[in-house]
Amino acid sequence: MIIAIDGPAASGKGTLARRLADHLGYALLDTGLLYRAVGMKVVRAGGDAADAEAAAEAARNLAAGELEAADLRSDAAASAASKVGAIPAVRAALLDFQRTFAAHPPGAAGGAVLDGRDIGTVVCPDADAKLFVTASIEVRAERRLKELRARGLEAIHSRVLQEMKERDSRDASRAVAPLEPAKDAFVLDTSALDPDAVFAEALAFVKARGNRR
Ligand code: C5P
Repeated sequence: MIIAIDGPAASGKGTLARRLADHLGYALLDTGLLYRAVGMKVVRAGGDAADAEAAAEAARNLAAGELEAADLRSDAAASAASKVGAIPAVRAALLDFQRTFAAHPPGAAGGAVLDGRDIGTVVCPDADAKLFVTASIEVRAERRLKELRARGLEAIHSRVLQEMKERDSRDASRAVAPLEPAKDAFVLDTSALDPDAVFAEALAFVKARGNRR
């Protein structure tokens, strides 16, 4: 079984993906990490994440160990990720890895959960269950702010909101694989829901889809 979870930053999709994978015993791939790793690889080498040649080269040579780097959760990595994510050759280079993971989940798991921006639309258009997790920009900025402060980082609300707006608009307006719900996705607005309620709704949907297979 393949579960595709898409949505904007801080919508709650990452938390949901992990809970579903744990609960069902499925393998989990956070595809944002792939783009973050490619972006930071270019930046660390002194390059510009928007440089199509350098980014495509970094994506083609990405090794599994590079997904473990400590700086991938930073805002700098998020921003670099959304720049390399707009480059078609980068997306193409990462496609095979994601599809192979979905079709043959590691550890012989009975299924795979992939979360990202284009899983239900491009990477796994035939996924058994597709969820599009979203929330208002104010709620998402507030969540992100709390997360940064919990990690002991200084963060200013207006700046976090601004960065999130920029990333949203870059992700939604790019020509290749823009952020949008698949036609057959279950859209889950988490603005007024806590993580337990999100999980319960998503699990009910996934089970209903599984019963139809
Ligand atoms: O989900 P996360 O915040 O880690 O993603 C970082 C960035 O990577 C996103 O803003 C997006 O630009 C890019 N991305 C993407 N396609 C995916 C996953 C992430 O373009 N499947």
